[in-house]
Amino acid sequence: KKVIFSAIQPSGTITLGNYLGALKNWVALQDDFDCIFALADLHTITVRQEPAKFRRNILEAYALLLACGIDVNKSLFFMQSHVHTHAELAWILNCYTQFGELSRMTQFKDKSAKHADNINAGLFTYPALMAADILLYQADLVPVGADQKQHLELTRNIAERFNGLYSPTFVVPDAYIPKNGARIMSLQDPTKKMSKSDENANGCIALLDKPEDIMRKFKRAVTDSDACVRYAEGKDGVNNLMGIYSAVTGRSFDEIEREFDGKGYGDFKAAVGEAVVEHLRPIQERYADYSKNKDYLEQCYRASAEKALAISLRTLRKVMKKIGYIL
Ligand code: ATP
Ligand code: MG
Repeated sequence: KKVIFSAIQPSGTITLGNYLGALKNWVALQDDFDCIFALADLHTITVRQEPAKFRRNILEAYALLLACGIDVNKSLFFMQSHVHTHAELAWILNCYTQFGELSRMTQFKDKSAKHADNINAGLFTYPALMAADILLYQADLVPVGADQKQHLELTRNIAERFNGLYSPTFVVPDAYIPKNGARIMSLQDPTKKMSKSDENANGCIALLDKPEDIMRKFKRAVTDSDACVRYAEGKDGVNNLMGIYSAVTGRSFDEIEREFDGKGYGDFKAAVGEAVVEHLRPIQERYADYSKNKDYLEQCYRASAEKALAISLRTLRKVMKKIGYIL
């Protein structure tokens, strides 16, 4: 079986963007691949976290992903900080990653503009840690949203560089990006991606939002003055809503345009809101159960971390030997 690796940061409440861009695929791929999933809690401290809230976010994200359908009987799912090989390989890969390459990363530019008071070295070298996460497990495919495409390209370059300098060591992974929902935009500013860490909660649908909040946010979503539901250049708000509606109902853009022919944005937004509420309802119900059962969650993440450590150590040892370390 081919190997899948992906991770998500416990940096806030998981959003509809995370779900449609990545998590939905994680769940779907579990039957056909060896899947390894992590909460990227080492990545999260590239932005300052309040300790009590960070702890809550980690456990919430873990329970919520189980509720989305991550199944620890099929896949590994653990906290990145529990598997020490991630930080170790990241240091090594830092030394095989160029300053110029990291300087071109748009996420670094965006996040350093947003957190100008804390442009730390970790924020800059984030992609080397991400490369370590993926390469440790010799992953073939990495299901991510479109915003991570550039980082994955860098991971491939780092892997090829290392393989070329020594001898084949890492599998060079491919991105696995969904056609629909790969890039969900903010409901308030459809030129910016929806983000967990966005301070404007109205732009962002959290998977755990109450139905009335979801409806309200969709009703207030920014659109345009054209008042016609169709997919077209310059209609970022409507395009985004159509993408969301298509991803949760499985309908094509043509079908959606026909469905709302002659209807206004009010009807359309309400329909999108209702479809999302219904899509999230079973996830929210399962979350309520999992989140009560802290002992079960702990059993799951400890057992997965132990297995992940064993797999990743094989790669780390191979890498260290090639570099010349005495093991
Ligand atoms: P942060 O703002 O803290 O970076 P985030 O919402 O970008 O949070 P990440 O943990 O960085 O979430 O990413 C988790 C996964 O979700 C990644 O695969 C990423 O590509 C995907 N993703 C993030 N935002 C979106 C979005 N707006 N649309 C589709 N996929 C997304
Ligand atoms: Mg992100």
